[in-house]
Amino acid sequence: MTTPAPTAPRRPVAVAELVERLASVPGRAGRLTHLEVLPRRAADHAAWPTWVDDDVIEALGRRGIDRLFTHQARAADAAWQGTHVVVATGTASGKSLAYQLPALTAARAFRGERGRRGAATLYLAPTKALAHDQLESLLELRLDVRATTCDGDSSRDERDWARAFGEYVLTNPDMMHRSILPGHQRWASFLGSLQYVVIDECHHYRGIFGAHVAHVLRRLRRVCALYGAAPTFVLASATTAEPALTASRLTGLDVLPVDDDGSPRGEVTLGLWEPPLTSHEGENGAPVRRAASSEVADLLADLVAEDVHTLAFVRSRAGVEQVARAAADLLAEVDPSLPSRVAAYRGGYLPEERRALEAALRRGDLVGLAATSALELGIDVSGLDAVLIAGFPGTRAALWQQVGRAGRGAQDALGLLVARDDPLDTYLVHHPEALLGRPVEAQVFDPDNPHVLGPHLCAAAQEQPLTVDELDHFGPAAADVVAWLTEAGLLRRRSRGWFWTDPRRAADLTDIRSAGGSPVSLVESGTGRVVGTVDGARSHGTAHAGAVYVHQGETWLVETLDLDEHVATISMSDPGYSTSAREVTDIAILGERDHQTWGPCRVSFGDVEVSHQVVSFLKRRRPGGEVIGEEPLDLPTRTLHTAAVWWTVPDDEIAAAGLAALDLPGAGHAAEHCAIGLLPLFATCDRWDIGGVSTARHANTGELTVFVHDGHPGGAGFAERGYRAMTAWLRATREAIACCECDDGCPSCVQSPKCGNQNNPLDKAGAVALLDVLLSHAPSDEHADSPLE
Ligand SMILES: [Zn+2]
Ligand SMILES: [Zn+2]
Repeated sequence: MTTPAPTAPRRPVAVAELVERLASVPGRAGRLTHLEVLPRRAADHAAWPTWVDDDVIEALGRRGIDRLFTHQARAADAAWQGTHVVVATGTASGKSLAYQLPALTAARAFRGERGRRGAATLYLAPTKALAHDQLESLLELRLDVRATTCDGDSSRDERDWARAFGEYVLTNPDMMHRSILPGHQRWASFLGSLQYVVIDECHHYRGIFGAHVAHVLRRLRRVCALYGAAPTFVLASATTAEPALTASRLTGLDVLPVDDDGSPRGEVTLGLWEPPLTSHEGENGAPVRRAASSEVADLLADLVAEDVHTLAFVRSRAGVEQVARAAADLLAEVDPSLPSRVAAYRGGYLPEERRALEAALRRGDLVGLAATSALELGIDVSGLDAVLIAGFPGTRAALWQQVGRAGRGAQDALGLLVARDDPLDTYLVHHPEALLGRPVEAQVFDPDNPHVLGPHLCAAAQEQPLTVDELDHFGPAAADVVAWLTEAGLLRRRSRGWFWTDPRRAADLTDIRSAGGSPVSLVESGTGRVVGTVDGARSHGTAHAGAVYVHQGETWLVETLDLDEHVATISMSDPGYSTSAREVTDIAILGERDHQTWGPCRVSFGDVEVSHQVVSFLKRRRPGGEVIGEEPLDLPTRTLHTAAVWWTVPDDEIAAAGLAALDLPGAGHAAEHCAIGLLPLFATCDRWDIGGVSTARHANTGELTVFVHDGHPGGAGFAERGYRAMTAWLRATREAIACCECDDGCPSCVQSPKCGNQNNPLDKAGAVALLDVLLSHAPSDEHADSPLE
């Protein structure tokens, strides 16, 4: 660490009184929906394990670390003994010592003669920035251990040095996939001395990305075995449900969980805040809530005026600027000297600029900062009093990570979550137990997805021909997928196994960060400048000819969409309306993988084929939103083979509940929307990762059926997780609809911003009645809700 600038002395902030003051401002009645005070927690210390290198202890001592917390000692001990371990404790609980102690000790203890490489460690971070930060803090220990990063920014010399001498190499899964594993022969000596593999922030590996990383790690273990190494895996995770299970799915190994957090914590106050409904009318006349970012700007101004050091998290970069500007404008009305005490922080600052911001914060020249996300932040902002969060950041782990930015160590802290106008946020601010109780959200991914597995089997075969015995290593689906790849001519079967004989690099078959489908480039007509890209699957709905496309605050009109070339030409133009695509969706059940019988109703999980066709688009006047025209489109149907969870309710049950036949399409549709909105409570996905279809009478079931499906070919595990948590998920869905204060449905309950049918028909009361019928037959057995098998 660099020497911190002197911190201006400040009076301690009385958090509870502060929230009272914020909430009692005239006109704000009812906005604070809950206030929870989590008590102080004392530290639980442990002695240094006897095996830890004395120089390592001394180096840590220089940084002020003179003893361990219990979770650090337990995890480090397990790793030293060769047990794979996942440490899943809170933000700032010092998880890095769990792997640094064994890794640094081993590097020094097993160093060979004449300075030959000691036992090596490979450290994987989800982002380059995190790996660089880790390297910096390692180098600050000034220990004789050869540490370096290896990523897209490394020079050829740096890579050569890492291969020849590196004892602690920090990289990322992308680099493993594209470079290190395909070129493993050049890394043979490093991989052969590999003792530890560290997977930091492993809760980031979810969905399709998680499945890719799971296979990158299987390929890594296989290549290590080739050079006689069987490294011990140490994973660090935020707190989630079932960390051991997730770690084990990710690595393919048995992993010991360490989740008793021994670090101290100051008093943490979490406030939940709901912006009011406005007088504006939204789609179909629905009421609209005030934007979370506007509310956060007000609160930020209030806190800065009180000299409370505050960080406001806002989702989009444009939103960050807007919040900082709005807060500054409000402060200008109070005192012309105040606006300069608020700033926006966007990613991509130079190190000097970051240092300057940090110093300004410490001196107290800067009191309020609006920023995007914790990971991107990358600046040291310890010593804050309060954190404002504009919209639930997607997972509980991320929420607590953001709240943890305030009051590091034993200092008291305030976190205020301001709800956005969607079903999940609305549910959370009225159900604090979902944020405070035992975590139910599981980190979900499906390594058996054949679309993900296939390219990795090809890459593995190119790295070293695949043998029959090795297929198990890649999971139960591998044998079928290898047979299919062989039939398709990608792999060739010989007596010694399967070979990759194609001239291409097999690792180029897949991009581990992409969810599939080639992205469409948005190109400015005339200049040919690439303005941005849209996901291939979403391009039909957002980049069709005639679409109005808003990119970083600028309005563009799409002129043409060429699906063969993956290019849309656009020009800057604001026609004064927005566009929304109308889509026709169909779904066919291909097979059921599992089901539960709920009385006369049935809940199923299985494979489906979803077909989408964008058929037209509506023009809506801006502002206001009234429809001023509709234009037909001629786009092909897209089909998606994926996994889905669905439920059916027979006609006589519906009749007995008094639901008139007319209400059915709207009731099913409304229940589907809200169920999609709430699935992220149970699975770490966002609502864009999943889709849904509902029909009053489905061709395959003959009954009212509501489907929620994964948005990626082959499935990402989200629908499966929904199926496993069905009772709790549907109960939460029903609650969210029933408790919403609107009359006939709004974005906080049943309206969806991604609906292809313009949120029509929707029947809010019908959805509650329908869910009541279904839930009246739900099993009372809580095992039905157990997370992942
Ligand atoms: Zn509502
Ligand atoms: Zn819809």
